[in-house]
Amino acid sequence: MQRFTCAVCASALFFENSRCLACGTQLGYHRGERIIAPLDDAGVYRDLQGQQLRRCTNLALSGCTWLVREDGDECFSCTLTRTRPEDHDTTGLAQFLDAERSKRHLIYELDVLGLPIEDRIQNPERGLAFDLLSSVEEKVVIGHQNGLITIDLAETVDSHREKMRAKLDEPYRTMLGHFRHETGHYFEGTLVFSDPEVTDRARSIFGDDRASYKDAIKRHYDEGAPEGWEKNHISMYATMHPYEDFAETFAHYLHICDTVDTALQYGLASGPGPNSTEDFAVVVRETWIPLSVALNQVNRSMGANDLYPFVLPPAVIAKLDFVHKLRVRVGEPADGTTTA
Ligand SMILES: [Zn+2]
Ligand SMILES: [Zn+2]
Ligand SMILES: [Zn+2]
Repeated sequence: MQRFTCAVCASALFFENSRCLACGTQLGYHRGERIIAPLDDAGVYRDLQGQQLRRCTNLALSGCTWLVREDGDECFSCTLTRTRPEDHDTTGLAQFLDAERSKRHLIYELDVLGLPIEDRIQNPERGLAFDLLSSVEEKVVIGHQNGLITIDLAETVDSHREKMRAKLDEPYRTMLGHFRHETGHYFEGTLVFSDPEVTDRARSIFGDDRASYKDAIKRHYDEGAPEGWEKNHISMYATMHPYEDFAETFAHYLHICDTVDTALQYGLASGPGPNSTEDFAVVVRETWIPLSVALNQVNRSMGANDLYPFVLPPAVIAKLDFVHKLRVRVGEPADGTTTA
């Protein structure tokens, strides 16, 4: 995440800020210019093209600060949400606000990495869309199908998520992590399965995705991960099926790129960043490992759990490099400030 400052008073800003806490200026996120822009008293920002922009209509509903052209419009991130809790579901709507915050963070990072998204208007069959569903009254299963991602909003509740994390014996479980994992399935569809040659290479690294998914789920929940899984997989869940291995790897690729980018921006790390055209092994070895070890130590100093409770064996680093090369191939070179 880039380092944002207030254009009026130069105070530090977080990506989510709708107002500068130091000087009171109203703020909005400009997706094209990738800045947090100051608004005038009428709530308007005039951009580099002279266009008048105002905040997304969902500011009160979901805390969205993204800028739009017309009063009452939804921004790009908000339009990707196909289903949200009903107006009377106050519990679901409070959870929806948290989930949308994570989703905007995801979309921001995909933009920075130059990973192209098609919505359901551009591609009605396979475009990206989200059903953010309240499980207050019905059971919701998190998952992805042909670009449509379903998220259980109860996962925004710390006690529920922690219970699930412990039950599934996972070292890490967050809402942003769910979004990253599920979009991994979407990008495997658009970047891997769209090209037979890339598909073959993916199969040689992650295994044959034509294996029965139904059998894989049954085996995973009956028997758990195979002995010695740590040598080839980032998580136990990744061992279930090649689809899940790719999605887990993709999520870790986004975790690492975003955290490295943030650390470089704040002067907490040195070495090659996400835009490096080197093998991702170099980014991992020179930037990520020293940084994540230091951050784990920092967390331990605060009595908290490790920030990155994972080990990256060579086979997993090779999988991360596969994702990196896919992305560098399609991605527009993003703003080069963090490239070493
Ligand atoms: Zn300010
Ligand atoms: Zn919005
Ligand atoms: Zn999955």
